[in-house]
Amino acid sequence: MQQQLQWQDNLVQDYGDDPISVRDTSKYQTEYIQGFVEKWDSLIGWQTRAEGEGDFFIQALREKGVKRVLDVATGTGFHSIRLLQAGFDVVSADGSPEMLAKAFENGRRHDLILHTVQSDWRWLNRAVHGEFDAVICLGNSFTHLFTERDRRKTLAEFYAALKHDGVLVIDQRNYDMILDQGFKTKHTYYYCGDNVKAEPEHVDEGLARFRYEFPDQSVYYLNMFPIRQSHLCRLMTEVGFQQIQSYGDFQETYRHEEPDFFIHIAEKS
Ligand code: SAM
Repeated sequence: MQQQLQWQDNLVQDYGDDPISVRDTSKYQTEYIQGFVEKWDSLIGWQTRAEGEGDFFIQALREKGVKRVLDVATGTGFHSIRLLQAGFDVVSADGSPEMLAKAFENGRRHDLILHTVQSDWRWLNRAVHGEFDAVICLGNSFTHLFTERDRRKTLAEFYAALKHDGVLVIDQRNYDMILDQGFKTKHTYYYCGDNVKAEPEHVDEGLARFRYEFPDQSVYYLNMFPIRQSHLCRLMTEVGFQQIQSYGDFQETYRHEEPDFFIHIAEKS
């Protein structure tokens, strides 16, 4: 019976009777269920996403002299695989075993063996040993953290995993725009999959609940914390990062309200 329940747990997302009250950092563990993970690659659209971001991350990491990368939000492996193909030494971490299994499978399809580590960011350095030139946290992943304590703890763990001159590359949705002016998207850089509808169903200062509808009419949700750009940059500075360069949809100059996503490159020294 217990086994059957666990099996069912892995098939259905459950937000209870009041989904917008679910504001919990650990919730990601039951959001990325098998069915959603199987569909994730059609949501992000690998080919279009690769074209959209071009060599941005590869160039940025090479410019900083990076060799060893820790991908802390591996997901289905999009960036881990691209960086391995570009010659970086990559460790692929994630808190979700479902995501890591899919990433490993995707790696095999590209003739690569991913070095995967399952770890929650809040205790990252218990599982990941070694100092990295770069930590990458991409695909709007940091948004899964709901408390200030968890955000600080996570950034401190990222900081500790870096060499003295390492860099953190982290991105976020432009939640400022969503909170202040409502949702619109160019759909060009991140969630590029054809025929997948990704829209917020509810937004307030403490929650962005997104609904993802797929062509087979299956629907999944993610409850996320809509962190503002200034908030994330302030936290990075407070945990010790010295210099932060921000980009809007991969451009150095941008008007704050235009980009769908911001990318920050934070230097430890
Ligand atoms: N980077 C991938 C991409 O761009 O396609 C995946 C992005 S997905 C939005 C967020 C990922 O972060 C998921 O794989 C999830 O399991 C992971 N994650 C969320 N919160 C986490 C936490 N506290 N510790 C470890 N991993 C976490």
